Amino acid sequence: MGSNSHPRIFAATPQAIVRAAQLLREGRLVAVPTETVYGLAARADTDDAVAAIYRAKGRPAFNPLIVHVPNIASAQTLAEFDSRAHALAHRFWPGPLTLVLPRRASAPLADAVTAGLPTVALRCPAHPVMQQLLAAVALPLAAPSANRSAAISPTTARHVAQSLGDAVDLILDGGACERGLESTIVALRPGGGWEILRSGPIGRSELVAVLGASGEDRRVPGMIEAPGQMSRHYSPGKPMRLGIVNADADEFHIGFGAVAGDITLSARGDPREAARRLYQCLHAAAAAEQRRIAVAPVPEQGVGIAINDRLRRAAS
Ligand code: AMP
Ligand code: MG
Repeated sequence: MGSNSHPRIFAATPQAIVRAAQLLREGRLVAVPTETVYGLAARADTDDAVAAIYRAKGRPAFNPLIVHVPNIASAQTLAEFDSRAHALAHRFWPGPLTLVLPRRASAPLADAVTAGLPTVALRCPAHPVMQQLLAAVALPLAAPSANRSAAISPTTARHVAQSLGDAVDLILDGGACERGLESTIVALRPGGGWEILRSGPIGRSELVAVLGASGEDRRVPGMIEAPGQMSRHYSPGKPMRLGIVNADADEFHIGFGAVAGDITLSARGDPREAARRLYQCLHAAAAAEQRRIAVAPVPEQGVGIAINDRLRRAAS
């Protein structure tokens, strides 16, 4: 039996992790906490298991998945690592950085994972539950966010249960996610160029410190065109206005800093706290009685860049 909040939610005890690993090896779906958001995991080497992720999420097949590995050695069996990839992995793994690299021809990955692309997106997550699960299952795990496609990302086990219900076989509960935003995705091009495909907890300046600025392919933020970087995403299902200090009476107001709101991203105006609380606030706004949402201004700096990226998509 799961916890009394939902029959499929289990505290992430060692026994529950063993059970989750068994299910994954059988090709089933397990939701697992990471430091970014909750992931919907399946073994990445089996067509049927990967197909189950797309089905459970209602995710379009052209939108490739991130593959999670326990360490750099495991990542190297799946993708070609050049010196830049090594430098980034050594600096930021385990952690909220995803590398898009040339896929190895021999990589044991289902074709659907990469949506047929010659590249693969890899991440080594820091969360102890995800690390224990990767060790127990001893296979790379494909794991997008554990929500229906285009909906608000989950940062608690309950969010997962609300979005996916019976479509997931087991939900490991590891509490609320520490970072609260999806990983930064950086693509390293074979010619030496690189590009941020998705902003996230690791900022551009941190990447430039490792890669140098010269090879960067910069596009207009929010106009990124990678597979799956759809403009409509993280949707609360109601109209939403951004940069609002004084909300209308029929708006649920999400505050930040001096703007109090009905709920706040961070009363002390801390961008990291705001990132952690973003999806929780959007879930609360979606469930509120008001038929519209307004969000206070969040400064476009540091992790605020990634927060505003998610808010723009949620409002579109
Ligand atoms: P999600 O699983 O929802 O966090 O999204 C993963 C994102 O990673 C997708 O939206 C893709 O844009 C991106 N991605 C995954 N694999 C690749 C790849 N091989 N090339 C470019 N982008 C990728
Ligand atoms: Mg997602």
